[in-house]
Amino acid sequence: MVRVVYPDLIGADRGRDVLVGHLPSACGDGLSFCRAVYHTTPRGDVVPVAGGLDAGLPDVCVHPDLDTLKPLPWEPGVAWCLGDTRDPLTGSPAPESPRAVLRRVLARIGEYAGDDGLSPVVGPELEYFLCDASPGAASGWTPYGGATGNVYSAGRRGDPDGHLLRTLRQLDSLGIGAIAGNHEFDGGQFEINLHHSDALDAADRAFFFKAAVKETARHEGRLATFMAKPFNGLGGSGFHVHLSLVDGDGRNVFDDPQAEAGLAATARHAIGGVLRHAPALAALLNPTVNSYKRFGPDTLAPWLIDWGLDNRSAMVRIPPERGAGTRLELRLGDASANPYLLVAGTVAAVLLGLRDKPEPPAPLEGYGYNETSAPRLPGTLDEALDALEADEALTGLLGDGFTRAFLTYKRNEIERYQHAVTDWEFGEYAFLI
Ligand code: GLU
Ligand code: MG
Ligand code: MG
Repeated sequence: MVRVVYPDLIGADRGRDVLVGHLPSACGDGLSFCRAVYHTTPRGDVVPVAGGLDAGLPDVCVHPDLDTLKPLPWEPGVAWCLGDTRDPLTGSPAPESPRAVLRRVLARIGEYAGDDGLSPVVGPELEYFLCDASPGAASGWTPYGGATGNVYSAGRRGDPDGHLLRTLRQLDSLGIGAIAGNHEFDGGQFEINLHHSDALDAADRAFFFKAAVKETARHEGRLATFMAKPFNGLGGSGFHVHLSLVDGDGRNVFDDPQAEAGLAATARHAIGGVLRHAPALAALLNPTVNSYKRFGPDTLAPWLIDWGLDNRSAMVRIPPERGAGTRLELRLGDASANPYLLVAGTVAAVLLGLRDKPEPPAPLEGYGYNETSAPRLPGTLDEALDALEADEALTGLLGDGFTRAFLTYKRNEIERYQHAVTDWEFGEYAFLI
């Protein structure tokens, strides 16, 4: 059996199990899916964006990319394979396919770099909460391991039945470049780092990673959540991304030992591009109404648009390594981001930085959560979507079809959220007033 999967607009894995005997025809003709799946919410509502409901729920064709075929360690006899989504009539990529959006941005950086052959190198690191079913809890789930573990506690102290080792072994057999994992700040929270590679491969692996961690947790009757901030009073989960640029000879062009802080002009401009486009980037890197509850002072998540040298309280951190390891770490993204859109948005902002050459301000010194002069990140998804819509340079790189579909889907999400009555409201209003 081959499980052909593809990412929808929010990065969820959708797919179909195909008997191996039918794989040749699936590769030749593609597999037909209803195009509205891109716009189907986790609750099953279809958001009416162009090409979905209004077009009469037509087909989209998913073409398996056999380069991505991998046996699934937890499902013997089943292999996993990514698919590319195309229009069945023209064969061109579906405009809102996240993989197509990333390919489009990468093609633009390729064109821009010309003979220099600049290409991004991307290293993802993701955090998540593992939860146990808990019928007494309002959501039905509580963090695994209780409060017994906190950051870097190794072994069974914060991981009573060896979840991390088991997950790392599964990921290793899956061959998606998992390097290491550790307990994070809060009970039940873990971080796993993936190896760096070219941007499309890194996004594919981060997509597989999220789906794999969730699926292995389901096999244990647990929930692994990549929500940005699943619990009141606990920290959020980040999706940090490390990025450098190499030229055609594989040389890291961010590195310049003669320059201030060892950072070449290209690195400064890349940082400047990320800072300039941060409000719009937030829409892609922090794409849920919940995402904005992760930001804030003293969280190790950012709240200001700033950068610093080996400073974890800044939005962009420049890790201390130089030479081939000279890179930026963008700490803005949270784990709920669609990996393709997170990488596409970040690379697009870097490309605009190389093109427009904005100089970043002086790097943040000291503890950034006291800093007040740097601009604030958007406080809500609403603000971030407005910033994305207004940022024509960025949306021009992402594509109009994608941008329209994304804004429509996400504004529909905000509207549904605004009409939902929450536990907080009941607690605040029901008894005293
Ligand atoms: N959990 C923090 C975040 O939301 C990051 C903690 C860390 O630096 O590893 O981004
Ligand atoms: Mg971490
Ligand atoms: Mg990090």
